[in-house]
Amino acid sequence: MNIILLGPPGAGKGTQAKLLEEKFGLKQLSTGDMLRAEVASGSELGQKAKEIMDRGDLIPDEIIVDMIAGCLDKPECSGGIIFDGFPRTVDQAQALDSMLEEKGKPLTGVVQIVVDETVLVERLNTRIRQAQEAGEEVRSDDNEDTLKSRLEVYRNQTAPIIPYYQSEGQLFKVDGMATIEDVAEQIEGFLKSAQAA
Ligand code: AMP
Repeated sequence: MNIILLGPPGAGKGTQAKLLEEKFGLKQLSTGDMLRAEVASGSELGQKAKEIMDRGDLIPDEIIVDMIAGCLDKPECSGGIIFDGFPRTVDQAQALDSMLEEKGKPLTGVVQIVVDETVLVERLNTRIRQAQEAGEEVRSDDNEDTLKSRLEVYRNQTAPIIPYYQSEGQLFKVDGMATIEDVAEQIEGFLKSAQAA
C-alpha cells in the first residue's frame, strides 16, 4: 500500500504516519524530516533550504522530487510508503504519479485530514510547549508568523492537489478534529477496505 497524508501544517500527518508505520508495516517518507536532516548536517542543500523553510515557503519542486526519487527503491520502502508532506504542489503530484507508475507501485489513496484552521495555532503552541518540556529543540519554523505563511502556501499551492486527486477518485477525507485514536481508526478503516478491494 502506498498512501499520501494530506493536510495543513498541524493537521496531525506526522502523528498518524507513525501510527500507520507500526500497524501496517509501512515506511513514512517525510520531506520535512529529510530537509531538517539536511539543515542539521550543514550541507549546501540544507543551508539553502533553511532560509526558505524559515520563511514558510516551499523548496523548489525539482529538489523535492529528486529527494523522493532517491528513496522509493530503498528496501525499507518495499512494504509500502506513507508520503507525509509530499506532494505539496500539482507538479509534485504529477511527478509522483509518473514515478510510481514507472516503479509499478500504485497509489492506494490520498487521505485528507480535514481540520479547522482556527485550532492550528493552538496546536502549534502545544507542540512548542511539549518540545520545550521534553528538552527538545523547537523547530525554527514553528512560530505564529511562519505558520501564517505556511497556511497561505497550503491554501494557494497545496490545496489545488485536492481536486486533482478527487477527479481520479483517490481522495478519502477524515475528520482531523477528532481525537488521535479516532482519526487513526478512520484511516485504518479506509486502508482495510482498500486492502480488501
Ligand atoms: P513539514 O515538516 O512537512 O511541515 O515541512 C516543513 C517545511 O519544509 C515546509 O514549510 C517547506 O518549507 C519544506 N517542505 C517540506 N516538504 C516539502 C515539499 N513537498 N515541497 C516543498 N517544500 C517542502
